[in-house]
Amino acid sequence: MDQTPKTAEILCVGTELLMGNTVNTNAAFLARGLAEAGLNLYHQTVVGDNPQRLREAVELALSRADIVITTGGLGPTYDDLTKETIAKAMGRELVPHKESQRWVEEYFLRLGRTPCPNNQKQAMMPEGAQVFQNHNGTAPGCLISGTGRWEGKQAILLPGPPHECEPMFWEQVLPLLRGGSRLVSRCLYFYGIGESDLAQKLDRLMRESTNPTVAPYCKPGEVMLRLTARVAEGENAGALLDPVVEEIRQVAGEYLYGTNVGNLQTALIHTLLAKGLHVATAESCTGGMVAQRITSVPGASGAFEWGAVTYSCETKRRVLGVSQRMLDTYGAVSAQTAMAMARGARRKSGADIAVSVTGNAGPEPSEGKPVGLVFIGVDSDAMTTVQEVHIPPTGNRGREYIREIAASQALYLALQAAKLTVSRENPHQ
Ligand code: AMP
Ligand code: MG
Repeated sequence: MDQTPKTAEILCVGTELLMGNTVNTNAAFLARGLAEAGLNLYHQTVVGDNPQRLREAVELALSRADIVITTGGLGPTYDDLTKETIAKAMGRELVPHKESQRWVEEYFLRLGRTPCPNNQKQAMMPEGAQVFQNHNGTAPGCLISGTGRWEGKQAILLPGPPHECEPMFWEQVLPLLRGGSRLVSRCLYFYGIGESDLAQKLDRLMRESTNPTVAPYCKPGEVMLRLTARVAEGENAGALLDPVVEEIRQVAGEYLYGTNVGNLQTALIHTLLAKGLHVATAESCTGGMVAQRITSVPGASGAFEWGAVTYSCETKRRVLGVSQRMLDTYGAVSAQTAMAMARGARRKSGADIAVSVTGNAGPEPSEGKPVGLVFIGVDSDAMTTVQEVHIPPTGNRGREYIREIAASQALYLALQAAKLTVSRENPHQ
């Protein structure tokens, strides 16, 4: 049997997608599904409801892929042209399809309505097509096998509405697509190293590794490496991925904070929950961003119950017990105040770990402290420290950028403390 993976291509049809009125969520879930089925995907296209341009797009897709998957344009109205156009391109006539007629009638019966004559258009199918029943709407989907020039090529036509398209794909199409192999990804998350530095350290690995492939993605302050392995049936993904992860660890392990975690806050919450620990926050310049990110993680209530935004000196004193003398001597933006804020938050909340942020997010220097100077404090049994960070303001979103990076830095420090703290659930952990 030919084990070479097939190539698929996604073609989404609908002028509303081109205009930006509808977000192309179908392409995103289809891409995930195709990876799961082990198919290569090199192109996604969006084309409007125009028969000529649709024909061109379909022919281009058929010329470079084995399977073209379309969504949209299967509705009953005059601008729904996908089936007609693709059937014609692939040399197939449209013929009445009895089962589809029955499905459409039954669907309307369930709604207590009678089908309009134009719904009959939806029961016309390319001859020889494999038809997919639509359990959530009227337009059936279908798989067309090409003839002539497109012999050996296939087109799979799915309806546009996601609540119709998704179940049809997962339930009826994916089982047909699954070949002898699948793609398995593992995502490694790094903090404190830039994309270019990481890419440089892993240069040889990224260029030479083909199974798995290694690709970096960056966002402010963070880098994610996606490792994707093609795994044959019966083969263990770990056998391909583990040695490469180990190699990456050796080179950049000190920056690696988690695997398949998604972000810092999720890594933090998962670590705290696994150990039965609680964290508290005391924020000044981030105005609650750290607490917001922590509480965005499902299950955060099991590890977070106390957060304070202490923006003024008066509140730092009253809520956290920072002394007036300290504020007068060192200023609100200082290592001493950051430490006192973390200590105060831990004492007041009873949490195992408290993290604090105080800094100058700009746009003007204050207390003689430059824009971008931030102090992050953490107080816990395992680790009590203050970090001084200088965040360079970038472009016109300098203030937001400084706050965002400061919040990330606080989450990262809390995560380090959580990793070092002895588990309440299992002290040997
Ligand atoms: P259609 O099958 O072309 O009649 O599509 C009907 C509706 O499905 C559109 O009005 C959109 O709201 C939605 N839709 C179509 N294509 C997509 C897509 N690629 N992603 C998300 N929604 C879509
Ligand atoms: Mg449409």
